[in-house]
Amino acid sequence: MTKDKREIARRPDKAPMATAWDYAPAPEARDIVKVEERYGLFIGGTFVEPASGERYTTIDPAREEPLAEVAQAGKADVDRAVRAARDAFANGWSNLRPSERAKYLFRIARLLQERSREFAVLESLNGGKPIRESRDVDIPLAAAHFFYYAGWADKLEYAFPNRKPRPVGVAGQIIPWNFPLLMLAWKIAPALAAGNTVVLKPAETTPLSALLFCDVLRQAELPPGVVNIVTGDGRTGAELVSHQGVDKIAFTGSTEVGKAIQRTLAGTGKRLTLELGGKAANIIFDDAPLDQAVEGIVNGIYFNQGHVCCAGSRLLVQESIYETVIAKLKRRMATLRVGDPLDKNTDVGAINSKQQLEKISALVQSGIDEGAQIYQPPCKLPERGYWFVPTVFTNVAQSYRIAQEEIFGPVLSVLTFRTPDEAIEKANNTPYGLSAGVWTEKGSRILAMAKGLRAGVVWANTYNRFDPASPFGGYKESGFGREGGRHGLEPYVVLEDA
Ligand code: ADP
Repeated sequence: MTKDKREIARRPDKAPMATAWDYAPAPEARDIVKVEERYGLFIGGTFVEPASGERYTTIDPAREEPLAEVAQAGKADVDRAVRAARDAFANGWSNLRPSERAKYLFRIARLLQERSREFAVLESLNGGKPIRESRDVDIPLAAAHFFYYAGWADKLEYAFPNRKPRPVGVAGQIIPWNFPLLMLAWKIAPALAAGNTVVLKPAETTPLSALLFCDVLRQAELPPGVVNIVTGDGRTGAELVSHQGVDKIAFTGSTEVGKAIQRTLAGTGKRLTLELGGKAANIIFDDAPLDQAVEGIVNGIYFNQGHVCCAGSRLLVQESIYETVIAKLKRRMATLRVGDPLDKNTDVGAINSKQQLEKISALVQSGIDEGAQIYQPPCKLPERGYWFVPTVFTNVAQSYRIAQEEIFGPVLSVLTFRTPDEAIEKANNTPYGLSAGVWTEKGSRILAMAKGLRAGVVWANTYNRFDPASPFGGYKESGFGREGGRHGLEPYVVLEDA
């Protein structure tokens, strides 16, 4: 090691500032996917016109350009979809041989793999996420969920030994805009595996991959009505929640809407699972491999523009390594490429909507006003579209809004701690409890921290890692119920004595 390099290793803040290399544009071809001019509602195995007669325009948030006209389903449309699901449930799906159900799920999984490029491009176009993420994370994981639950479909009695599992009935499922196809897979795969039928409502800003998924269902020859997709905004979601013909609601979205849904369902006997917000702590101890930890910090908060309910949005750094970590983090942030989601070199894409951009901007302003110190690397943003520069706040007090509230954007708040107990106390000092990250060399410390942290998922020396076999879900205001793994089947079965 030269003297200069040794000096930089010791004092990374003295290192010359890194910048992103200049790469030639490498856009993915968008003509692989055909976007229709207008879409109906997918009910009973075909696209039908909305009885509401209402439509709205869904856009590409990176270019602020319209992509398609999408139906805003009303009360009568939701009713029609629920009836189709109920008929399909009664007329065969719930009694189908489980191994036959599995075959449909396997088919869907294979079709998603075959058409993965098409889905990846569409997901990035409609949602703003980098193609690298939709191609390497969203779509492969969506397919993996169908493969995984296909495997359970004919083994339910092994999942619930000595009990007789039977399907619940019609599931109403409402999903958010941050991982549109993946959240669809999380919801639909376990429901179908257990013999339920489904009415799913995608988020209003990102309906297109769910509508393309209808074509996969057609190719898979899934019996009509087993899966119905109704598009629309929160009003459509509210209709689905309050419909008498729905036996179970599965919701992923904001804590505020989750609470409203829980109020609506109180006393109805309908089943409910909620996967809501988060404000996760990513905790870095002084014995952690720091360069890997910095990658984990970046992945934890800037992955998917920070539109991640389990994002590591509060960085807790042990005091002795604070300056080194912050210096390394700033250097790394300077190399992040923000821009065209369809470019294969892009790290951080577009913010999903104007509304979300406004929310992020307002919370960032509150951080400045309350006295935190902001850092944003130099970054040239495209002129059109919704963008936010990756941001880190230091000098943050626990009481600041940026340390308390979910920002759901590429904004990190840094706090420090001295002892493991203090780290646990600070990490748990939030109304949420979805996830956490721990970075340390000591296995015993990982186990002790995981025990103390009140979070549904605790990652050790990694972050934002998902697997269909691993249950995911929250404590406290992050919701209840688990998705993924054997646990993910529970909400979709009624267990009778064998
Ligand atoms: P976000 O703030 O992240 O957009 P929301 O909770 O508003 O999250 O949205 C998540 C999903 O819930 C979306 O599909 C949205 O349309 C739906 N939704 C919004 N309001 C309601 C409601 N009152 N009842 C049911 N679903 C709703």
